[in-house]
Amino acid sequence: MKKFKRHLITSALPYANGPIHIGHLAGVYIPSDIYTRYLRMRGEDVLSICGSDEHGVPITLKARNEGITPKQVVDRYHEMNKKAFSEFGISFDIYSRTSNKVHYETASDFFLTLYNKGEFIEKSSNQYYDEEAACFLADRYIMGTCPHCGNENAYGDQCEKCGTSLSPNDLINPRSTVSGSKPVLKETLHWYLPLDKYEPWLKKWILEDHKEWKTNVYGQCKSWLDQGLQPRAVSRDLDWGVPVPVKGAEGKVLYVWFDAPIGYISATRELTPDWEKYWKDPETRMIHFIGKDNIVFHCIIFPAMLNAEGSFILPENVPANEFLNLESDKISTSRNWAVWLHEYLEDFPGKQDVLRYTLCANAPETKDNDFTWKDFQSRNNSELVAILGNFVNRALVLTNNYFGGKVPARGETDNYDNEVLAAISKLKEETSSNLDTFKFREALKSAMNLARLGNKYLADTEPWKLSKTDPERVRTIMNISLQITANLTIILEPFLPFSMKKLRAMINLGEIKWSDAGSTELLAPGHQIGKADLLFEKIEDDVINRQIEKLMLTKKANEAAYLKIPPAKDTVSFDDFTKLDIRTATVLEAEKVPKTTKLLKLKVDCGLDTRIIVSGIAEFFEPESLIGKQISIIANLEPRKIKGIESKGMILTAEDKDGKLSLVIPADKTGNGSVIK
Ligand SMILES: [Zn+2]
Repeated sequence: MKKFKRHLITSALPYANGPIHIGHLAGVYIPSDIYTRYLRMRGEDVLSICGSDEHGVPITLKARNEGITPKQVVDRYHEMNKKAFSEFGISFDIYSRTSNKVHYETASDFFLTLYNKGEFIEKSSNQYYDEEAACFLADRYIMGTCPHCGNENAYGDQCEKCGTSLSPNDLINPRSTVSGSKPVLKETLHWYLPLDKYEPWLKKWILEDHKEWKTNVYGQCKSWLDQGLQPRAVSRDLDWGVPVPVKGAEGKVLYVWFDAPIGYISATRELTPDWEKYWKDPETRMIHFIGKDNIVFHCIIFPAMLNAEGSFILPENVPANEFLNLESDKISTSRNWAVWLHEYLEDFPGKQDVLRYTLCANAPETKDNDFTWKDFQSRNNSELVAILGNFVNRALVLTNNYFGGKVPARGETDNYDNEVLAAISKLKEETSSNLDTFKFREALKSAMNLARLGNKYLADTEPWKLSKTDPERVRTIMNISLQITANLTIILEPFLPFSMKKLRAMINLGEIKWSDAGSTELLAPGHQIGKADLLFEKIEDDVINRQIEKLMLTKKANEAAYLKIPPAKDTVSFDDFTKLDIRTATVLEAEKVPKTTKLLKLKVDCGLDTRIIVSGIAEFFEPESLIGKQISIIANLEPRKIKGIESKGMILTAEDKDGKLSLVIPADKTGNGSVIK
């Protein structure tokens, strides 16, 4: 592997519209922090960069919904997340934010460099504009009827009811959520980064030169590149963001995907006047820690931007993780289905390492994984308490009891002792090589295996039975146990920084370096250790049950919100009601409309005539089951052509909370054409 002079570690900028949860921690911040701490302990020159991503439409939407400014939204979450990271021991060298002046300057300069080099395509297109509010509408600001399922509250980018992704032009009866008015199409100019131009270069750089990337990352890149890249707009019509720094671009800002990764550069600039050394010297190794939803931005789009700019280095590796679920359900900010970091820190004071341990031991490194409170409890009770805590406690207590806390000298060693001593450096090497290749779960397992070994060594040698009969042997056993303890404080430090600091204080071990680990002479004979204090304590069932209960309440609240019946409609006059001609009819024939999934073509006898009605009920009824059924229809609805078939009328159905349809059927059979009133 190439030897680099320094390392630049970036962690995905969390979006400042909500708090940090365990999914973020397991996916990005814990691995990035472990890796950074490891490099620092090896004496490497390393910077760890992060900050809040503060632009984009979700933030302006949240501000609008809460009746506050976007700045107030980002101020709230920036402070909250910065504090939570710091209390949790995520040791960034800087936690900056993209609303800072230095970021505005950096992002503007970056845009201008590309602009002046002619790297952008300028293109006009028609986009929805709200004339009342005098602004262009982002996709999320437009609502209308979904053409697929008829949901009247579909967004311009997606229908949340049927899950179809949409573009604003697909919506029937679009309306602006800003003013409620009907938007009009208006021409607007934007700048595009021609990603297609960089495709051949990206193919070589990733698919040929970076075969060592994790398979989930490499695979996603390959699939994007195989599909072919398209030019991508770098600007938007919005009033919250970094203004596009060219003439005639008033009211336009940089698209958030363009400005956010530049935030890494700005934060480094803010941190050190030496920032260019970290960003422009090919002897710097840049690593992006991100979640899988960010792979395309960090492996394809940002590198294309950096390549277009020309003076920056590219990432050496992007060790993205998959997603963490919570109690078998997808973590969701909007559904409040998460374990929030700031709440954890309140509910479990002083237990940062327990969560760091659980999330690393169970990290979604190669596939999605699940966090459960029961697993959290069991990792704590049967691993941290029963193995690590138990071992070091016995080593310290026995040394204090037998030798007044002075490290005894090692006498003659037997085969077992020698095996154990040799395993110390072997397990250290294993931990290192797993960390070097971003296998954090395996690295933690290797490091914990040293504690397992120590625990077993004490159980096998039983020094408490020998203290009277063979004091020489006890000296050797306790010396070896203490050397293991000292080694643990080094190789577990990146994972469990709080507990290892505490343990080093207990054994009076000062400054440590990674290279010290593996030594069997870390504590010299005669060295005075302190009293043993518990490193971890058992977590009882009631504590865990309270957390599970909290989640169950969330689940209930979500279900209640979901069950909510639609609000009442405006009053209509009796005259208006009588204008509707609602009648009974019998289904004579029914068949699926070809090439559709939802439509049935029904031939019905409605007393007045025999007619065709096309209805979107195919998902709920087999055509054969309808034949002969008496149903209710609106007979005088204006005829409509659906999939080339003229439909005269509408079948009445009742829709339940899950969107399931039931036919409205007369309780007793009655003549076709009976008026329903
Ligand atoms: Zn839909």
